[in-house]
Amino acid sequence: MKLTFLGTGGAFDVAYGNSAALVELRGHTILLDCGFTVYPTLRQYSLTDQIEYILLTHLHNDHIGSLATLLLHRRYFNPDNRPTILYPDDDFRDEVYEFLRFQLQKPDKYVDFTPVSEFPGITALDTFGLHADQLQTYAYLFEDTTQRLVFSGDLAKPETLFALLRGMPPKATTVFHDISFSEENVTHTYYKRLIPLSRDYKIYGYHCNPEEAPQDNPFPLAYHQPELMLAAHMQVSAP
Ligand SMILES: [Zn+2]
Ligand SMILES: [Zn+2]
Repeated sequence: MKLTFLGTGGAFDVAYGNSAALVELRGHTILLDCGFTVYPTLRQYSLTDQIEYILLTHLHNDHIGSLATLLLHRRYFNPDNRPTILYPDDDFRDEVYEFLRFQLQKPDKYVDFTPVSEFPGITALDTFGLHADQLQTYAYLFEDTTQRLVFSGDLAKPETLFALLRGMPPKATTVFHDISFSEENVTHTYYKRLIPLSRDYKIYGYHCNPEEAPQDNPFPLAYHQPELMLAAHMQVSAP
């Protein structure tokens, strides 16, 4: 199992790409979020055809803004290989479907929809209202026999996620958590709020501008870990 970031920026930090990742799990490739910078990044690295499954944390544009373009591309250039959106519940599937209907008219022609519960090793955590008021969001947990990876999605109130983790059987756990360096930011987790929750877990921050990290930030940022960054992989493997 492996998680590789396509981008780690906040909604306006386009230089770092929208926060999104590729997850390799049980021999399959899952795209985790598809914001407006993701399709260009997938094209840049010739990865559009690799995506088998798509998971979405929520419908903000920095998480879904190029989804329709990716699906259109796939139908046009690789029509026999439709990707599948893994959805956490029927209401969310309906929201994604409606979002795509305005852009693609008939989303079923472009993509299949399957409950995420049918994919072993993925757990969706309902984080409704914990990022923005009345907004449906999800965090996702990925597990194999040896480790657990956690992706917070956009989350201002992290306590629910860590309560779930503490109730689970112990396993080597790495948490990728959105992080804010401004206490006034009410839609992401202020880094100092994560500190008391972080015992027992390896935590990497993302969805931020790394240049804004203060000296006393104890959390390593995904952006600074070459093994977590697609761009770093690609630079190493390029001729
Ligand atoms: Zn976001
Ligand atoms: Zn958001």
